Amino acid sequence: MAAQPDYDVLIVGGGPIGLALGLALRGSGISAGLVEARAAHSVHADPRPIALSHGSRLILERLGAWEQLVTATPIRRIHVSQRGGFGRVELDCMQAGLPALGYVVDYGRLAATLTAAFGRDVSCRRFSATVAGIENAALAATAVLETPSGRVRASARLLAVADGGMLQVAAVRVSDYGQVAVTARVTTGLPQQGIAFERFTPAGPLALLPFEEGYALVWTTTPDEARNLCELSEEAFLERLQHAFGQRVGAFRGATARASFPLALRVADRGAHPRTVALGNAAQTLHPVAGQGLNLGLRDAWELATTIRNTERGEIGTPRQLQAYHARRRIDRGGGVWFTDTLVRLFSNDIAPLRFARGLGLAALGAVPPARDFVLRRMTFGTRG
Ligand SMILES: Cc1cc2nc3c(=O)[nH]c(=O)nc-3n(C[C@H](O)[C@H](O)[C@H](O)COP(=O)(O)OP(=O)(O)OC[C@H]3O[C@@H](n4cnc5c(N)ncnc54)[C@H](O)[C@@H]3O)c2cc1C
Repeated sequence: MAAQPDYDVLIVGGGPIGLALGLALRGSGISAGLVEARAAHSVHADPRPIALSHGSRLILERLGAWEQLVTATPIRRIHVSQRGGFGRVELDCMQAGLPALGYVVDYGRLAATLTAAFGRDVSCRRFSATVAGIENAALAATAVLETPSGRVRASARLLAVADGGMLQVAAVRVSDYGQVAVTARVTTGLPQQGIAFERFTPAGPLALLPFEEGYALVWTTTPDEARNLCELSEEAFLERLQHAFGQRVGAFRGATARASFPLALRVADRGAHPRTVALGNAAQTLHPVAGQGLNLGLRDAWELATTIRNTERGEIGTPRQLQAYHARRRIDRGGGVWFTDTLVRLFSNDIAPLRFARGLGLAALGAVPPARDFVLRRMTFGTRG
């Protein structure tokens, strides 16, 4: 008789999505383990801001992690415009009938909150190790773990890979945007009013998200300019930002150190490995425009946990179960990829007729409630709404 796998589900990667999956499996009787390579303190140093949608808030509430995030900064209104062109649109939480369109947290805080919630769950074992390889067989997949005391193996009916795409468990389609996101916290003379600004420029979108008293900046631009922006003195950086953004929030007064993130679209196919599934950034890494990646990944985690919880233990990780999961995620994943990719490609240029058409599109979005409501729903709950 074949030996039983060590776990029903082994999660590779304790970023937000791996942790969310672990939390969503709590209390189900399913035996789960999670492997994370990074030391806890290095996760907290990740400076990227994350805009969580209202739909993600609902998932985090169900995972018991929202209470610790209630200080996240609400986004009450989103203002979208293009530099050097007419047309702009404002989306308001009242139009969506929601208390806020989203909430801004930093990645480190979110990861720390989920890690703490996960740590309270004794039913899921956490390994501090790096997965060095995966061995697949018909009835179980085995992860080879590099630990300080040597290599160990752990097998599972299903290996849920949420490693951000490092292991590449499936063929991946990569499309480099030739853009880099520069992040920083910035302040102006006035406290923020709960308004998020998305300003499209030919080099890439510039987002200013309300965060605590000031703003979190995600400035997408060419790799050369990004390098330059990171090296500038605070004063020179603020001057450049003022020039790029204009006067809509008054004069910029202060900026923290900057960090940079190269951007590419990466879409994994379902993968040829039985017993292995990719989710979160491992399944799709998106451009940060419109803040979709983590929100989409949370829905991956929630749907995978629901699929697993609703089937017999013997069914976990079977091709039939994975097929059902992929079918449930297909439209939302495809919609997220299409929405962000189209926005970036349509807006990151200075072609006059396109600029004009974009202006018309933005104006129409503001003037035609069904179009506006469609975008609001997409941003709040994903493509399946
Ligand atoms: C500048 C920027 C701004 C963004 N803003 C937003 C936003 O506003 N809203 C939004 O929804 N999304 C946003 N995103 C996207 C978001 O950051 C990602 O979608 C999200 O972090 C994906 O989470 P994840 O858990 O899948 O992967 P990750 O966050 O990459 O976590 C993967 C984890 O796996 C671990 N790991 C990797 N390899 C191994 C291994 N071999 N063994 C063990 N562990 C391993 C890593 O240490 C890590 O902890 C932004 C991205 C950027 C770059």
